[in-house]
Amino acid sequence: MKQSIPPIVTIAEIANHQDQEIRIAGWLFNLRSKGKIHFLQLRDGTGRIQGVAVEGECDPSSFQTIGDLKMEASVLVTGRVRKDERAPSGYELTVSGLTVVQNPEEDYPIAKKEHGIDFLLENRHLWLRSSLPGALLRIRHQAITSLRNFFNSRGFILIDTPILTGAIGESAGTLFEVPYFDMGNAYLAQTGQLYLEAACMAFGKVFNFGPTFRAEKSKTRRHLTEFWMLEAEVAYLDNPGNLQLQEDMICALVEDILSRCQEELKTLGRDVGKLKKVTPPFPRLDYGEAIHWLQQQGHDIEWGSDLGAEDETAVSNRYEKPVFVVNYPKKAKAFYMKENPDNPETVLCADLLASEGYGEIIGGSQREDDHDKLLARIHEEKLPEEAYTWYLQLRRFGSVPHSGFGIGLERTVTWLSGTHHIREAIPFPRTLSRLYP
Ligand code: ATP
Repeated sequence: MKQSIPPIVTIAEIANHQDQEIRIAGWLFNLRSKGKIHFLQLRDGTGRIQGVAVEGECDPSSFQTIGDLKMEASVLVTGRVRKDERAPSGYELTVSGLTVVQNPEEDYPIAKKEHGIDFLLENRHLWLRSSLPGALLRIRHQAITSLRNFFNSRGFILIDTPILTGAIGESAGTLFEVPYFDMGNAYLAQTGQLYLEAACMAFGKVFNFGPTFRAEKSKTRRHLTEFWMLEAEVAYLDNPGNLQLQEDMICALVEDILSRCQEELKTLGRDVGKLKKVTPPFPRLDYGEAIHWLQQQGHDIEWGSDLGAEDETAVSNRYEKPVFVVNYPKKAKAFYMKENPDNPETVLCADLLASEGYGEIIGGSQREDDHDKLLARIHEEKLPEEAYTWYLQLRRFGSVPHSGFGIGLERTVTWLSGTHHIREAIPFPRTLSRLYP
């Protein structure tokens, strides 16, 4: 009689197959052999498990093959699932057979020893398989899912804004240019905000979530040249309402990460006690007060300039929760922000600084809804008026107060996971000096 082939089961669902004969389709990430026993460390993308092959119990040719396996060999392993309290996953596999899919001919470049970050980034295509990047990118996945869920549950409509744009959103110096047929240059989007402003007048509450490009020559641990940003825009929403929306979003996100990424946070050694303190309400700190405090601390900063990375770190370290810095000077911010009626030198805006010194993760504002004031700002900033014809037209057909913000995904994931540098919070980072792999 022909023997039936055991089903392929993922390591994540192994608990449902206790004492059953199954197969795992995965890779060997470590092998230790002691006399008549091989201990195989296996992973399949959903988890990790130890396989134990004992000579005499395992199929003889498989037993011999295992001894010749190199790290990262791809294998189909047959065995019985055994409960084992001591195992990290709670289960072990008693191996009865193994089929090699591909056995590398050379040693795997990433070993257990310490590698420098440059080496690891050069080998990012392989490094993704290791446990730390694995945990981090799973948190990233959960953050994307949670953010989408948040906006879907609140009735927002997803509006995918263009990546190739003709209009110049903000400062031309930080745009990537690409030749665009016989129409001159197009620019890779730095923001979809202006398009979202148009869409919120059609749908009320809208958001986008996509790649964003900044050709800024920043070498900080907070800047990528390509990153993912979620932007939201809401008609009939004022600045306090905008802050409330952001606070609700961050609290829902942190709650989700704490409950759904426990294993990943543990793998990364994240102090979850600090994340548990991220509860409403977040402090609101006036920009002027922030400057005054920074000056008292000896920071070289004047009223009128944007906060630098060190200033943001110092301010956010004062609190155990994220803090909104509100009402920045008009001259430090973009032309579309609404003038503050209580102090026309400032605008109705806020940056959200993450706790633990991680700096700005959200930039948002109420938008200027008055046509003439907006036009005056475009002139003041010496922006090409013709590029904003359609944007200005939004203020001539049923203009209403409206507000929105942009949250940087990788900065947020860096903070949530307690990682030092933003380049690890994206699968294949693009920075000033990195375009490979
Ligand atoms: P910064 O002053 O820190 O460079 P910004 O003021 O230019 O940031 P915004 O234009 O307000 O940032 O963008 C909204 C959000 O997008 C930021 O709060 C941040 O989370 C993220 N972000 C901006 N620039 C980058 C970048 N170069 N790399 C990664 N994330 C970024």
